[in-house]
Amino acid sequence: MEFKSILLPGIEDKRPIIISGPCSAETEEQIMETAKKLSENGVKIFRAGVWKPRTKPGGFEGIGIPALKWLQQVRKETGMYVITEVATEKHVYESLKYNMDMLWIGARTTANPFAVQEIADTLKGVDIPVLIKNPVNPDLELWIGAIERLYNAGIKKIGVIHRGFSTNDKTVYRNIPQWHIPIELKRRYPNLPIICDPSHIGGKRSMIKTISQQAMDLNYYGLIIESHRNPDDAWSDSAQQITPDTLGEVLRELVIREKVQSTEDLSDLREQIDELDNEILQLLSKRMRVSREIGLYKLEHDMPVLQTGRYDHIRKDRAEQAEKMEMSGDFALKILEAIHTESVRQQFEVMEKAKK
Ligand code: PEP
Ligand code: MN
Repeated sequence: MEFKSILLPGIEDKRPIIISGPCSAETEEQIMETAKKLSENGVKIFRAGVWKPRTKPGGFEGIGIPALKWLQQVRKETGMYVITEVATEKHVYESLKYNMDMLWIGARTTANPFAVQEIADTLKGVDIPVLIKNPVNPDLELWIGAIERLYNAGIKKIGVIHRGFSTNDKTVYRNIPQWHIPIELKRRYPNLPIICDPSHIGGKRSMIKTISQQAMDLNYYGLIIESHRNPDDAWSDSAQQITPDTLGEVLRELVIREKVQSTEDLSDLREQIDELDNEILQLLSKRMRVSREIGLYKLEHDMPVLQTGRYDHIRKDRAEQAEKMEMSGDFALKILEAIHTESVRQQFEVMEKAKK
């Protein structure tokens, strides 16, 4: 896929491009006051949710069409561009009717191919930048599928928003970043702009700055950050919104490291990494050879492949060892599980062959 720039006239092609505004449009005053303050802080693209996807019915589900009129007003009075979330054919029609400059697709919608296709079909022949949030579940292919649906409908100005992924695990995040997923997306589509949404990743004000800096250090193109004239009173996502002035501070404190000046030191380190990766693979290959020998031994002696007691012991022991070696026990367990899965597969394979 060959993407076109999502930049609108007058917006500088300079990292980070900033999109900010409240989670939801609540009242005309809230929108106008927040927008003016953001504009004073240098923000050029204003976001606001007009239709809000809520987990349960009965909560605040957005103002709908009257809020689109407020966004038009923002455009007129501040000169900012405006962007809102669309999830259905009707949302797209209304947003285009009220001259939204950009659209975004929410995380719950990206996870639903029917909804994405409906949006794509409605956008056929329209030239508008669309930002696609990652699906709520950590499924890169589903994210790429949504990008393809829009691209195939003729939308070429596409960007993605990384807003983290849901999890049942207890973490400090509202949605865990799983940075490797957007990094892999970028590897596959180097000219696809990635925008980070630290508000929905962190879920709380105190995390916005750190996550924004991490995104910049990973070379992200932009940030979408929720801001509200009075965050404590926000009708949705109150804990994660910041004031326009705090946003200004966060942006001023960001350190943007453009291209490394001297790549020499780095290439030394990269060589070390290549060598170490090679050694790891050699070791794994040896490890699998031993596993196969064990498989044959078990076959000869009529023993089961999996001996749970021993595996439990190995897991505990290796996790503890890893912690002592400046790695997380979790990380060690993940690797061990992958090795164990492959090891069991190889044992089965060698046993099948031996039986023939
Ligand atoms: C939002 O941006 O306010 C929103 C609903 O986000 P997400 O789709 O990432 O949950
Ligand atoms: Mn929100």
